[in-house]
Amino acid sequence: QAKAGGKDAAEFFTAEMTQRAESRMQLDADLRRALELGQFELHWQPRVSAAGGVLLGVEGLLRWQHPQRGLVSPAHFIPLAEETGLIVPIGAWVIEEACRQVAAWRAQGLPSFGVSINLSARQLRDDGLTDLVRASLLRHGVPPGVLELELTESMVMDDAERNLRQMHTLRDLGVGLAIDDFGTGYSSLAYLNRFPIDKLKIDRSFVHDMLADPTDRAITMAIIGLGHALGLQVVAEGVEEPRAAALLREARCDELQGYLFGRPMPVPAFEAWLAEREAPVTRVTV
Ligand code: C2E
Ligand code: MG
Ligand code: MG
Ligand code: MG
Repeated sequence: QAKAGGKDAAEFFTAEMTQRAESRMQLDADLRRALELGQFELHWQPRVSAAGGVLLGVEGLLRWQHPQRGLVSPAHFIPLAEETGLIVPIGAWVIEEACRQVAAWRAQGLPSFGVSINLSARQLRDDGLTDLVRASLLRHGVPPGVLELELTESMVMDDAERNLRQMHTLRDLGVGLAIDDFGTGYSSLAYLNRFPIDKLKIDRSFVHDMLADPTDRAITMAIIGLGHALGLQVVAEGVEEPRAAALLREARCDELQGYLFGRPMPVPAFEAWLAEREAPVTRVTV
C-alpha cells in the first residue's frame, strides 16, 4: 500500500513538474515574442531632492503590456528571463529605450533631469555591456552623465573582481552607478569602498517601516551616515509618508523616491505630472 502511495506521489510530482516546466517554457516563448512584438515599456518614477523637492531624475521600470493579461510587473518575468539569459536582450532594449526617451525629453526643452535604469547580474557579466551603453548614448546624442545604472550589492559581490572591472569601464564611459536595495544584500564594507559608485539607494523595506520600527529607522540613519562618510549620495526609495520624508530630510538624505512624490508612470502620465509641478513656478514668474 505504501508502495502504491509512493507511486501515486511520484506520478503526481512528475505531472506537476511537467506542468511547471511547460508553463516556464510557455512564459519563455511569450517573453521572446514580447520582445519581437514590442510589448515591453518603461514606466517612469520621479526622484526628487530631499531638501527642495526638485526633480533630479526618473527611474525607468520595466513593464510588459501583455495582450491578454494586461500590464505585467517585472517580478513576474524578470527571474525567469535572468535564468534563461533573455534578460540580456531585454536589458539591451531597456538601455536603448531609456536613451531614446531621455533624448526625446531633452528635445522638448524640459528642465534637465537624469535617467536611471536597473541592470541584472547577467548584463553586468556581459563583456559587451559598455559598448552597448556607449552605442545607445551616441545614437541618441545623450551625454553619458545623464544615465545612471542601478546594480545590487549581491550582484556585484558575486565575482566581485570581475564586476569591479566592468564597473570601472562603465564609469570611465561617464555613466553614473548606484547600488540599489542597499542593506538587503551581502556586501562587505571593505568592498563597498572599492566600488566606483556615486550613490546608495536605501532599500524600501527599511524606509517603509522606519516610522513604526526604531530598528529600521536606525538602519536607515546609519546607511545615510555610511554613504556620506564614503562620499556618496544617498537615495531613500519607497517614501510614502510626509513624516518619513521629513525625517529623511532632517537626516540629510539627498534624494527621495516613492509613492508620496509619484508612482511609476507611463510617459504621458509622467509628462502630465511634470507639467503640473512646473505650472505654479511658471505662474509665479509670469
Ligand atoms: P527597484 O529597482 O528597487 O525599483 C523600485 C520598486 O519599488 C519598483 O517596483 C517601484 O514601483 C517600487 N516602489 C517605488 N516607490 C514605492 C513606494 O513608495 N511604495 C512601494 N510599495 N513601492 C514602491 P517594480 O516597478 O515592480 O520593480 C520591481 C523590481 O524589478 C525593481 O526594483 C528592479 O529590481 C526590477 N526591475 C524593474 N525594471 C527592471 C529592468 O528594466 N531591468 C531589470 N534587470 N530589473 C528591473
Ligand atoms: Mg532600481
Ligand atoms: Mg533593482
Ligand atoms: Mg530598489
